[in-house]
Amino acid sequence: MRIESVSVESCRLPPSSPWEDATNKVDGLEWFFVELRTDNGLVGTGISYTVDVGGTAIQALIEDYLAPLVIGRNPLEYEALWQTLQRQSRRLGLGANSMAVAAIDVAVWDLIGKQYKQPLWRLLGGARARIPAYISEIKLTAEDTLDDLLHRVDDYIAQGYHAMKMKIGRDDLDEDIERIRCVKEKLGRGGKLMVDLNQKWTAAEARSKAARLDNLGLTWIEEPMLWNDIASHRALRQAVRTPIALGESLYSKSQFLQYLQSEAVDIVQADIAFVGGITEWVKVAHLAETFGKPVAPHFLMELSLQLLCGVSNGLMLENVIGGSLTELGLLAEPIRVEGAMGVPSERPGHGIVLDMAAIRAHKLTPAVVRSSFKGGSK
Ligand SMILES: [Mg+2]
Repeated sequence: MRIESVSVESCRLPPSSPWEDATNKVDGLEWFFVELRTDNGLVGTGISYTVDVGGTAIQALIEDYLAPLVIGRNPLEYEALWQTLQRQSRRLGLGANSMAVAAIDVAVWDLIGKQYKQPLWRLLGGARARIPAYISEIKLTAEDTLDDLLHRVDDYIAQGYHAMKMKIGRDDLDEDIERIRCVKEKLGRGGKLMVDLNQKWTAAEARSKAARLDNLGLTWIEEPMLWNDIASHRALRQAVRTPIALGESLYSKSQFLQYLQSEAVDIVQADIAFVGGITEWVKVAHLAETFGKPVAPHFLMELSLQLLCGVSNGLMLENVIGGSLTELGLLAEPIRVEGAMGVPSERPGHGIVLDMAAIRAHKLTPAVVRSSFKGGSK
């Protein structure tokens, strides 16, 4: 089997409900979809994304630099292919190039599944046939009242959810604590509540503020501080009982290894696109397993569902309100989580069928970026 052609489509569109957290207001999600066609008639679809920034550069990186390198290659040799793409782009550091490599790597894995006529979750190990899901909200606005929040929680519970993550990081920690207490009470004894700071706190703030959260029964505190301050995460982890979750801002297995060896993380949240695709994500998951840590991947619900069911240490599937491919209307066959339980498709490959007309309707171009990008970092 040889790859004969590569094509790339990209789009930019806002989350289907507005996103704001402690450090960002998000105007647009930028998606990349790669199509690899092989000489035996298979078509593999790659999926990658970035939040608000870099999309036109990533699209050019895929089309102009990386796509030509995969023509004539055998997709079953995924490791060699990944190494080629990573080595060729390593002078860019880690980040935009990881997202570009991921777009191709995911398509390669889709082809592997189609060649072997197996869904990815089984091809990667088939550790379980279903995975519990949690609701993830990005709604930290001054206008969002406690009543509004609790009404939404009622709705999630009615859908079968008993696990939920909310953004915190208000200037007044007492406000955060009041909201946490009320949501926790609604979720009940068996409920799980997680909170996400998006790197808002300084190390000094984290020491005092996390201590005040520590008796609230939270399932985890996510990204409390700057992503690269491993020492402060280690110190915080030693100071509080509540588990520390992070990983959406790490881009390689060696960065995860540093956190794991430093005993600075409890829940590993590698994002398939940000670490360069499925090839690297699986290595991160296995690495976490050797340290006895679960994985709860960031975002990309439809794709994460497949991978979580493949590995032995999958914990929970994140269903981000306003950000799944299904909610954004980009799938020809929507993938929904029913009763808070993710069940991966049996279709060979990743099982995700795109709606190309919907994607083209939101085409990413420099003109679109110039008219819609506002720069929402706080
Ligand atoms: Mg997060």
